[in-house]
Amino acid sequence: MKTVVDARFRREAETFVLRFSCDDCCHRVDEGALRACSMAFPADLQRASLDAESLAFCKSFELA
Ligand code: SF4
Repeated sequence: MKTVVDARFRREAETFVLRFSCDDCCHRVDEGALRACSMAFPADLQRASLDAESLAFCKSFELA
């Protein structure tokens, strides 16, 4: 799901400590130096994505 990231979204994500990135997901696996997704999705959702104008949430995210 893709959503617009604006000042309000950033403020609320900070306030409620929103977790959405692969780093916080139980499906993330480390394979040596590579980060990967056990469901074979591109595991590239970084917390820094809040700096972008939009963000794509992964529907398979599960909090680790
Ligand atoms: S399921 Fe989605 S959020 Fe979780 S590691 Fe894979 S790509 Fe990232």
